[in-house]
Amino acid sequence: MEPFAYIQNRLHCEGVPLARIAEQFGTPAYVYSRAAILENFSRIQSGLAGIPSLVCYSVKANSNLKILRLLAQAGAGFDIVSGGELARVGRAGADPGRMVFSGVGKTAEEIDAALASGLLMFNVESEGELEVIEARAAAAGTTAPIAIRVNPDVEAETHPYISTGRFIHKFGVPKSSALALYRRAAASKSLRARGIACHIGSQILKVEPFLKALDEILEVVKRLEQQGIQWLDLGGGYGIRYGDEEPLDMDRLIAELKRRVAGTPYRLILEPGRAIVGNAGILLTRVLYVKATEQKNFVVVDSGMNDLLRPALYGSEHQVWPVERRAGPSAPADVVGPLCETGDFLARDRRLAPLQPGDLLAIMTAGAYGFVLSSNYNSRPRPAEVLVSASETLLIRSRERLDDLMSAEHL
Ligand SMILES: *Cc1c(COP(=O)(O)O)cnc(C)c1O
Repeated sequence: MEPFAYIQNRLHCEGVPLARIAEQFGTPAYVYSRAAILENFSRIQSGLAGIPSLVCYSVKANSNLKILRLLAQAGAGFDIVSGGELARVGRAGADPGRMVFSGVGKTAEEIDAALASGLLMFNVESEGELEVIEARAAAAGTTAPIAIRVNPDVEAETHPYISTGRFIHKFGVPKSSALALYRRAAASKSLRARGIACHIGSQILKVEPFLKALDEILEVVKRLEQQGIQWLDLGGGYGIRYGDEEPLDMDRLIAELKRRVAGTPYRLILEPGRAIVGNAGILLTRVLYVKATEQKNFVVVDSGMNDLLRPALYGSEHQVWPVERRAGPSAPADVVGPLCETGDFLARDRRLAPLQPGDLLAIMTAGAYGFVLSSNYNSRPRPAEVLVSASETLLIRSRERLDDLMSAEHL
């Protein structure tokens, strides 16, 4: 399905005109399509049918409670990276037994909370972390389920800030140390090895790096036959289309993964984040001013890098669609926010049809790493979040009020 499409030149999310959402909930607002989220999830889940597997949605891509609940009800497991995300998954009513806990910097408190929740496994990223998990499990009189996150040293061919699977990166441990850590876990009464994990980066568009990573962890796991390992966690990073790039061929990837895993005793975990929510959301913003200079136009909108950081952080390109399509000659323009930073742009050098103050724009493919990376920089309240289902709209996060911004401060 196309979650965002024009009907008589007016851009809709499913059956709802975006102009109506702007009127009802104000701008800026994140708008998500329920059907697109569920379709993205079930495409991966049903693709994996036939081999034992679990799709653990990566909470950090978009952690709104309603979206987590939606996915939990659809049968998703979860990949979390903090105690905060653990609390969210619990609040959403998800089964912690289908949850893995990744991240290089888990604190003792976070480990305790996750142990008490009954998680599926900790994806352990260092020897020091393994020691702390062992100690906390021993103190609680329980056994901690673990996987070692192996750094397979494969090139993910993506933006350097979202590439994680080389030895130069802080994530995971080399294959050689993984074996020692598994030996250590086997010798401990407080640790139980349940799986092996890797995650090579994000927005990866080629199938091959994933297959290479799987081959690498299969090779490690072959040497660990006595250890009772059940789960192969391949991580996330499945690339989507933002502009005119070819998206990852997910169907081919899944077919290849199934072929490799089918003859083994292992179960597969995938941790997609972006691929579930990325194209299911937009950022809806209103034009404040149009500034024409000799070189180009600046379209100043009521949303900026505090709401959507990706362009400033990674140089990411989001398409910009007018909410009302009009005829007219297009001119090159930068779509910029109101913040006092040169990096505060949403799009640069785009050909846009003539715009006026008050017009609405949709910043496309903003459902992943959009709201979650938002901030209050320049004391700007965070936007509302709205979920659309067919012809219904549901406010799933209220726009922040100025009181919210200051409520934790003391005079
Ligand atoms: C960020 C992350 C993911 C999700 O990445 P996407 O690119 O959103 O699919 C999955 N697993 C781990 C360990 C991560 O850090």
